[in-house]
Amino acid sequence: MKKILLWIGSIFMILSAIVCFPSVASLFMLMSGVVLLPLSAITKHYRRIIPAKSIRICLAIVLIVVSFLLTPVENVNNATGNDYGDSDTTITKSLETELQETISQEPEPQKSESQETESQENEPQEPNEPEISTFSIHFIDVGQADAALIECDGHYMLIDGGNKGDSNVIYTVLKNKNVSKLDMVVATHGHEDHIGGIPGAFNYTSSDITLCPINEYDTDVFNDFKKYATSKGGGITVPSVGNTYMLGSAEIKILGVNSISDANNSSIVLMITYGETKFLFTGDAEREAEQTILNSGVCLSATVLKVGHHGSETSTTYPFLREIMPEYAVISVGEGNSYGHPDEDTLSRLRNADVTVYRTDIHGDIYCTSDGKNIVFSVEKNESADTLTNQEETINTEQTPSESSEQNTDNNDYALNTKSKKFHYPSCSKGPTKNKEYFTGTRDELIAQGYSPCGSCNP
Ligand SMILES: [Zn+2]
Ligand SMILES: [Zn+2]
Repeated sequence: MKKILLWIGSIFMILSAIVCFPSVASLFMLMSGVVLLPLSAITKHYRRIIPAKSIRICLAIVLIVVSFLLTPVENVNNATGNDYGDSDTTITKSLETELQETISQEPEPQKSESQETESQENEPQEPNEPEISTFSIHFIDVGQADAALIECDGHYMLIDGGNKGDSNVIYTVLKNKNVSKLDMVVATHGHEDHIGGIPGAFNYTSSDITLCPINEYDTDVFNDFKKYATSKGGGITVPSVGNTYMLGSAEIKILGVNSISDANNSSIVLMITYGETKFLFTGDAEREAEQTILNSGVCLSATVLKVGHHGSETSTTYPFLREIMPEYAVISVGEGNSYGHPDEDTLSRLRNADVTVYRTDIHGDIYCTSDGKNIVFSVEKNESADTLTNQEETINTEQTPSESSEQNTDNNDYALNTKSKKFHYPSCSKGPTKNKEYFTGTRDELIAQGYSPCGSCNP
C-alpha cells in the first residue's frame, strides 16, 4: 500500500514538473518526484546518505512544500492534501486534475476551469469590463457633395447622402458594412448635394428617425427624399437646438438649426461626443449661421471638424475656427469642381490654425476611428499627399525634392499667390486668380521665401 502511494505521489510530482516546466518549481517537483520513487536501487542510496527515516520523510515533505509554494495558485490548492502519506483518494484526484490540465493546456488554455480562475485572479478587471466599444466615421467620397456614415457600438447614423447619382454609392457602403438598420439619418439641409443620395440608404435599410431642418422644399429631389423619409425613416423630424440623441455610447447634440430662408444657413450643425473626442459637423452653414452659434455661447471645442460648405470661403470663419480649435479637418469636395472649393482662404485659415486636413478630392474615402482618446485617420489613396495645411506636411514634401526636381528640370516657372503664399504650376486649375505673380527659379527658393506648394498640382 505504502509503495503504491509513493508511486502515485512520485508520478504526480514528475507530471507536475512537466506541466510547470521550465519554472523553478518544476525543478523542485522533479527532485521530490525522484526522491519519492520507491525503487530499491534509489532508496538504498538514500538510506546510506541519510540513515534516519524521519529525516528522509522530512526532506521529501520539504521538497514537495517548496515546489508547491513556488507554483501558481491552482497548484497550491491541489497540494494541500498532497503531502507524503496522505489518503489515496486525494492524491488520485489531484493527479486527475493535473492530467486534465496537461491535456487541455495544449490546444486551448482557457478551457481548463482552474486556469480560468487563475486568469480572473491575475487580471480582475477583464471580466468586469463592458463590451468592447467602437467608434468610426467613414467620410464617403461623393465628389462635390457630403456624406458620412458614423458607427458607434454597432449603431449607425448617416449624415447626408451626396447627390442623386450617389444613391448607389450610399447603398453599396451600407451593404458592404452589413448595416441592418440606421438609428438616425441626418439631412443637414435641403440641397441636392446633401439629400440627393439618401434614398439609396432607404432602399437598403430603414432608420428610426430622420432629421432635417425643413419639412418642405420645392424641388423634385427633396420630394423624393421626403417620400423615402416618410416610408422608411419615420418621417421628417425638425430638431431644436439643444436636442441630444444617443448613438451607442456616443452623444449627438444639435448646436444649430437656423430656420431662415437661406438653405445653407439652415443647416443642422451637430456635435458628436465619444469619450474625450468630439466631432463637429456643420453641413453647409456659412458665416451667418456660424455667428448665430457663436452667439449662443455653446462649447464648440472639437477634435475633428467636418469643414462647412465644402471649404467655401464663406464658411469656417476665424472666430468660429478659433472656438473649435480642431486637430483635424475633413473637407468633402469634388476634384476640379466649378466652385473653386476648397477656397485658398479657407485652407489658409486651417493652415494657420495648424490643422491636419483630409480632403475627399485628394484622398478619396476617408476613415477615422476613435478609442475615446486618440483618433486615427486612414485614407483610400494619396496618403502622403500635401493638403497644404500645416508645416509637417510641407516638410514631407521637402523631403522628396528629387521627384519634384525631375518634373521641374525643363520649366522653373511657377504661379504664385502672394496673399496665401502658395505656388502652383502655371497650368494648375487651382492657381491664383487674384494676387497672382509669376516666378522663375527653383522650388527651394520659393520655400525659402515662405511659399508652400499647391496640394493639387504638387509643384
Ligand atoms: Zn453642399
Ligand atoms: Zn448647400
